[in-house]
Amino acid sequence: YDLIRQALDTVADGRAVELLVADSSQAHFRQVLSTVADGFGACRVAAPSECPAASSGQTRIWNDSADLDTCPYLRNHPERVWADCVPVSIAGRTTGVLHAEGRIELPSNEELPTELELVARKAGDRIGVQRVLARTEAQAQVDPLTGLPNRRTLENRTHQLLQNDMEFVVAFADLDHFKDLNDLHGHETGDRALRLFSRVLRDSVRPRDIPARYGGEEFVVVLPDCSLADARVVADRVRSQLATALGTGTVPAFTVSVGLALADSGEALSEVIARADAALLKAKQLGRDRVVTAGELLETVPGGLV
Ligand code: GH3
Ligand code: MG
Ligand code: MG
Repeated sequence: YDLIRQALDTVADGRAVELLVADSSQAHFRQVLSTVADGFGACRVAAPSECPAASSGQTRIWNDSADLDTCPYLRNHPERVWADCVPVSIAGRTTGVLHAEGRIELPSNEELPTELELVARKAGDRIGVQRVLARTEAQAQVDPLTGLPNRRTLENRTHQLLQNDMEFVVAFADLDHFKDLNDLHGHETGDRALRLFSRVLRDSVRPRDIPARYGGEEFVVVLPDCSLADARVVADRVRSQLATALGTGTVPAFTVSVGLALADSGEALSEVIARADAALLKAKQLGRDRVVTAGELLETVPGGLV
């Protein structure tokens, strides 16, 4: 948008030009930039469908807001103004408009509409490319089946935490006997079970926690600024919320085992995950459907049991 504003500054020559772009629903226009700071020349049109230029895909030149056939959005303007309105096509749809406006005594010039059309074309192309890039980037960050952040995203976000030297707990969750569920009910049902669990996981953690699908039927949650005791409460909440969600009977019942580990200062994420994974293994060995904490293994597991 900065680049577009710079281009507009050169063609507008001091006149007010704004760019309105529709939101993702296409129902609401939003001013994304203006060449003036005082709010002059801001059109009140609310949506592309209501804008004569955007809805027709044609440049509209309004010479005088006092004209009988002026744009409905210029009529009753407190001052007598002119306006040049140029549609902006983004990814093949006219979802933006460049709106130039000025007082009658400071007229537009003949070249302005043509120059605005050039900027509109370039701006539309540019915004379209940026949107595709943003979407691709967003898609690369999440697991397509569950919509949860993937392993790489978890690592990147945790890396940012580590730079702030923040304490965190890793919870490693693995669905119990998931191969049997797949074998008995089919892969489709297995996929639905994974989605249900992901929903439960997302709803059970705090906004700043980072839940991720680590792979297959394994999930890792990084809980920043959290004690082991609090992490256990969260893990137990996941287990009980899972049981509740399964109560509706849309997916065959299954359980989850969780290993917890508190990061030692300066410890790498991979090391904490490995300790949480070891605790998870104990949870499996102890009979599954439970939470085991890495540091408490010796106290909670009688010698020789594992
Ligand atoms: P345990 O309690 O010891 O964890 O037993 P398990 O059967 O869950 O463990 P195992 O590693 O033997 O099997 C994991 C299963 O998870 C096997 C695999 O088919 C299933 N799985 C992994 N990813 C997916 C997926 O994306 N969709 C479906 N439907 N199943 C998956
Ligand atoms: Mg597994
Ligand atoms: Mg499993």
